[in-house]
Amino acid sequence: MKRSIYFDNAATTPMDPEVVRTMANIMEESYGNPSSTHHLGRKTKSHLERSRKSVAKHLNCLPGEIFFTSGGTEADNMALICSVRDLGVRHIITSSIEHHAVSHTVDYLVKQGSCTASYVNIDERGNVDLEDLERLLSNSGEKTLVSLMHANNEIGTLISLGDVSRICRRHGAYFHSDTVQTMSHFRYDLAELDIDFITCSAHKFHGPKGVGFLYINKELRIHPLIHGGAQEREMRGGTENIYGIVGLAKAMDVAYSELDEHRRHIEGVKAYMVDRLRQDIEGVEFNGESADLSRSLYTVLNVSLPPTPLSAMLLFNLDIYGICVSGGSACSSGSDKGSHVLEGIGSDPDRPAVRFSFSKYNTRTDVDYALEKLIGMYSAVES
Ligand code: PLP
Repeated sequence: MKRSIYFDNAATTPMDPEVVRTMANIMEESYGNPSSTHHLGRKTKSHLERSRKSVAKHLNCLPGEIFFTSGGTEADNMALICSVRDLGVRHIITSSIEHHAVSHTVDYLVKQGSCTASYVNIDERGNVDLEDLERLLSNSGEKTLVSLMHANNEIGTLISLGDVSRICRRHGAYFHSDTVQTMSHFRYDLAELDIDFITCSAHKFHGPKGVGFLYINKELRIHPLIHGGAQEREMRGGTENIYGIVGLAKAMDVAYSELDEHRRHIEGVKAYMVDRLRQDIEGVEFNGESADLSRSLYTVLNVSLPPTPLSAMLLFNLDIYGICVSGGSACSSGSDKGSHVLEGIGSDPDRPAVRFSFSKYNTRTDVDYALEKLIGMYSAVES
């Protein structure tokens, strides 16, 4: 039987069976509309509010600071669009390697004439130049929002949220961070961290697709992006995705209760893959900071392979062997444009890039299988 090896966990993760069971129970038992005042409505509403409280507890924030959305994209849109519309932001400082949920929203706001955008310098590994950020903020004569992702989904490079937050606060700027890749993989203490908006998407940590949230600091007053009913304390119209929200909260519970153990396991798998690649493929390199465990998102390894006549067919051939990987961000699959992230850090377009992204379900045996096939492809070309 053909093996199936899943190394594309930055695109999405398989659901945890415990999360599936929790959602299935709620689906069967709790079909009342949370806005209905009868007992079935109230029962569903209690699941909703329990989920919000549980999320808030993990992040050390108030339940009233969590607004459930359809996922990371909507949460990023809401933070950026509402900041410009409701908080008087006229200048956004961001980077050229943000996820399209941020970069395309910034493009839209600039095209509309609602604000201007500046792009902070980044180095060849995707690290943000904090001195340049200070300079841009010092020269910004207008109300400014800084939007920088916590970890890059393609190359794994991290920023220090604390350092960026302190710089933003010194200059009176708002700070939004797309934390979709790090939520439930890293711990947050929002009572300590001075930040305005962070975002979440449940399908990145073994929860369901199509659900996430936006954290909005309690000091801010913004208006809804989606108009309709009075759901989410009048901040997002539409009957709540109750099954998704309960699944998100459960996935977060599981992730945070087992975080250290899973992190150690995943780091072991990743370090093993880095070692084996260095041993077995001459000229292998790594994009971004992804090979450095102390400076990168531990779930992502972006491998820069030596040029080969097979370059264009690499992902296709790995898929034939049952190995699922991405050649950049899978969120933009379907478009044949190269990765804006790899272009942003100036990586060599002739070297094929393969993103391996890991979860608690991956093993060293998976790595052995993937490498056997990859090495086989290189040897076949050489011989
Ligand atoms: N931001 C980042 C960094 C992501 O990796 C993704 C998804 O790949 C998103 C935002 C979008 O999240 P969603 O798929 O929930 O809309």
